[in-house]
Amino acid sequence: SRKFFVVGNWKMNGQKQNLGELIGTLNTAKVPADTEVVRQKLDPKTAVAAQNCYKVTNGDFTGEISPGMIKDCGATWVVLGHSERRHVFEESDELIGHKVAHALSEGLGVIACIGEKLDEREAGITEKVVFQQTKVIADNVKDWSKAVLAYEPMWAIGTGKTATPQQAQEVHEKFRGWLESNVSEALAQSTGIIYGGSVTGATYKELASQPDVDGFLVGGASLKPKKKNDYINRC
Ligand code: 13P
Repeated sequence: SRKFFVVGNWKMNGQKQNLGELIGTLNTAKVPADTEVVRQKLDPKTAVAAQNCYKVTNGDFTGEISPGMIKDCGATWVVLGHSERRHVFEESDELIGHKVAHALSEGLGVIACIGEKLDEREAGITEKVVFQQTKVIADNVKDWSKAVLAYEPMWAIGTGKTATPQQAQEVHEKFRGWLESNVSEALAQSTGIIYGGSVTGATYKELASQPDVDGFLVGGASLKPKKKNDYINRC
């Protein structure tokens, strides 16, 4: 069965001093045995993810980091294809497909993000957009076993407009169907599909109760320490 999977994405926020409180909260949090937690700060019981990497092993690429460098720092995961990478930094579907394939082939776990913009949802082309993003990844990847897909509709990121549990479930279910038809049935069943976009202590429970929502990628709320294990308890 799929492991519930929770990622805090701190983006370009915080410094050593004010992140200390968050780290303290995480260090004392109890994590259910069937839940994997990923964040971007070294700690023995939680895995650490980089927020980007490049598509080749090494070379003259000023400003970029490689999967090897990420592993060298002790991190085991990387977030790729985040909507901010796609839209602020204009990364193409093709580039992201190559990055995901390379990071996986280097042994990193990859949280591959996909999601539509508001005008795309309103135009009724959500599926077309997210399947195309996934297809480019699928065309490049050979071994999916360490990949998690994160559905992050762009209109829900940082807006306070969480997708409804039904909206999230609908897309996640279609993703699983797409994986079954285009990759394999076994992979469709084993791949974690997590949701991101304005997940908070108020919205996570109902989302988590959906059969195809396998965890969360949490932005803003992950920067606010809470005593309770709000985001990592499924029920
Ligand atoms: P928010 O949770 O702040 O909407 O951000 C979501 C996100 O982008 C996580 O990667």
